[in-house]
Amino acid sequence: MHIHEYQAKALLADYGVPVPAGHPAFSVEEAVAAAERLGGPVWVVKAQIHAGGRGKAGGVKLCRSIDEVKAAAEALLGAVLVTKQTGPKGKVVRRLLIEEGTQIEQELYLSCLVDRASSRVAFIASRAGGMDIEEVAKESPEKIFTITVDPAAGFSPYVGRAVAAALGLKGALFKQAVQLVAALYRAFTEKDMSLLEINPLVITADERLICLDAKVNFDDNGLFRHPDVQELRDPDEEDPKEREAAEYGLNYIALEGNIGCMVNGAGLAMATMDIIKLHGGEPANFLDVGGGATAEKVAAAFKIITSDPNVQAILVNIFGGIMRCDVIAEGVVTAVRETGLKVPLVVRLEGTNVDKGKAILRDSGLDIIPADDLDDAARKAVAAAGREA
Ligand code: GDP
Ligand code: MN
Repeated sequence: MHIHEYQAKALLADYGVPVPAGHPAFSVEEAVAAAERLGGPVWVVKAQIHAGGRGKAGGVKLCRSIDEVKAAAEALLGAVLVTKQTGPKGKVVRRLLIEEGTQIEQELYLSCLVDRASSRVAFIASRAGGMDIEEVAKESPEKIFTITVDPAAGFSPYVGRAVAAALGLKGALFKQAVQLVAALYRAFTEKDMSLLEINPLVITADERLICLDAKVNFDDNGLFRHPDVQELRDPDEEDPKEREAAEYGLNYIALEGNIGCMVNGAGLAMATMDIIKLHGGEPANFLDVGGGATAEKVAAAFKIITSDPNVQAILVNIFGGIMRCDVIAEGVVTAVRETGLKVPLVVRLEGTNVDKGKAILRDSGLDIIPADDLDDAARKAVAAAGREA
């Protein structure tokens, strides 16, 4: 789960992490009131969306008067921001963060994540912080340092010193970095984060380290332990289809293609997407209905797929192991009767009660394209989607 920058900063401030003073604003009036409370003389108005790259897209505005704050808030609220990370459709700005301006001497990079290669929590540090860290990683990877935490030994101040050294800090700044790393590590582990990225971490003109940006993702599997974090969820930032799928316990991820997929088992779902691509098609989603789905769950999954306007053909690929093919068939028939079928539907069933399942589909009188195996099913779905296009 992702949260907004202003939420991440408030959470980190509770752990003693230095962040600029600031207030969220949902309207122009709130933005002006926040700026008046902060006092100036320089403010930063920042668009709050679940994506980075805002600086280069005009989503971070430096203001030198309350009138400029007002103008920036008016320009940003309700606008669609297209950044490198939003995709071409962009994201609507509904919230702002009004912050006191910081005088930047140098921009650094610091993040904390679970490093899969070493199976450890790792800090990634670089002196080349700011808006182009992706380029730095590509062009000059030697400027990026990784410091891992030994899970057996646990966190030690040594980690902070190694990070501070990697950032090239000395004296008072070195000491601040050691404290900062300890606070970030505590926040990261206590809140079950999966990513904590500070870019930029800045050195100010008066020799202080401040987290000027904060991106935080949480491990969904740990969310049940953190009702306070769950409350930070912003439904406006989530795909409504993904939200509905979560309510039914379906694993659904929206994609860009035009072939809707309903599959049981994550492995089979991946294989189905691969084979659709092999035949020149593009999946519209990943959808795993799970091993023990009911007819009701299947119907819900079907409705989510058909509500996607990009879907031009549907491929149902079910292997009935624990799940019986007749239950799937009943779910599909129920859903089609309720929602209607506006696009071709290819169904491949295999496994327990397959003959019963096929009979239910055949006797339903619905216009369903049967398939014998996965290859046949994918070919038929790609052809059907092409016809519709
Ligand atoms: P992102 O582009 O979405 O990652 O947004 P950031 O929060 O990282 O802001 C982008 C850039 O805006 C930063 O790298 C800074 O250069 C600049 N910026 C943000 N806040 C301030 C500030 O208080 N003062 C100054 N001078 N620049 C700022
Ligand atoms: Mn940033």
